[in-house]
Amino acid sequence: MMDNFTYTGLPSRVIFGQGIITQLADEAEALGMSKALVLTTPQQKELGQELLDMLGPQSVGLFGNATMHTPVDVTNDALKKYRRLGADGVISIGGGSTIGLGKAIALHTDAPQLTIPTTYAGSEMTTIIGQTEGGLKTTQKTLKVLPETVLYDVDYSLSLPAIMSVTSGMNAIAHAIEALYAENANPVLSLLAEEGIRALIRALPIITKDLTHPGARKDALYGAWLCAICLGSGGVALHHKLCHVLGGTFNLPHAETHTIVLPHALAYNAPAAPDAMARISRAVGSEAPAVALYDIAKNSGAPTALRDLGMPEDGIDKSVAITLDNPYWNPRALDPTGLRAIVRAAWAGERPAPIPLNAATVR
Ligand code: NAD
Repeated sequence: MMDNFTYTGLPSRVIFGQGIITQLADEAEALGMSKALVLTTPQQKELGQELLDMLGPQSVGLFGNATMHTPVDVTNDALKKYRRLGADGVISIGGGSTIGLGKAIALHTDAPQLTIPTTYAGSEMTTIIGQTEGGLKTTQKTLKVLPETVLYDVDYSLSLPAIMSVTSGMNAIAHAIEALYAENANPVLSLLAEEGIRALIRALPIITKDLTHPGARKDALYGAWLCAICLGSGGVALHHKLCHVLGGTFNLPHAETHTIVLPHALAYNAPAAPDAMARISRAVGSEAPAVALYDIAKNSGAPTALRDLGMPEDGIDKSVAITLDNPYWNPRALDPTGLRAIVRAAWAGERPAPIPLNAATVR
């Protein structure tokens, strides 16, 4: 019998397809933008310039210095430019770093946001904004930062290199996996999560061999969108907690850290989340999905060991202690021995092994 549940939908308009960038000017106008500021990272400035050319007088300029983890000083520079040019909205083209900058501008100005995601990270579907200042990252949730319109144009994902496609795809899959066993899991998000994982798992091995495969790129972006809704409307658990701790403490790169940790966090939670595991197994096409995810990453050449990202060995105990100090809700209670075992395995790059339930971890 179905349990009671709560589902929170977030208001955003999504246009999905290939070549839909032709709708950019109309969609910007529909948001009331007549002086848009276009945002990119330094690496994607050329794309920003292309958008300026498409928009003509509807845009007032480009800010091309978006940076990972939304540093406050970069946001302040962008805000100065936004105000100086009299802009009335932002168009963010890029991954989570660029979208994060757009969100930060919206937080301060209520600017409407139109986003064109070029990775699978999923920030465009969430009310979450993380900002860094003086080495400290703080995160808040507010509807003010949710982008109003998202153009998922497959063309802009074609340039994502093979390994980044896999690590970013694993980042997306992690959102769906945790929504399936989060405290506020619900049947609607479970449908989206299963389908999102399935679409990405189908696509990633093809993309690693053929970067511009149109069907696989479409599947991957579609899957990433569904997984992003899971992050925006659902909950997270041990995996996201560990990634925040590891990323924040050792300054590890975002998508790679998710890719390495996910199989181990899943192996830890598997015995405590049988319904979620049934869906994940179906979507991944394996009775041992944690191992299958590890193998997909390894076979693509993605990193599988936290030590290869620069994490020191004594960071294992440190990150376990920080995680236990202020844990997120998790389907399986956290025990120091089991937790240390998975962090150590992730650090060393081992294949995930089953972590049997013991009396201390049965809820
Ligand atoms: P990113 O945005 O930092 O991009 C990484 C690099 O890849 C950048 O140099 C970028 O210019 C480049 N790039 C992006 N798309 C490309 C493409 N199609 N082709 C070639 N190069 C491309 O990486 P990310 O993983 O998308 O985002 C990570 C950041 O997003 C982190 O700061 C993370 O905390 C944040 N994030 C936030 C949320 C949220 O809900 N607030 C969700 C997910 C991620």
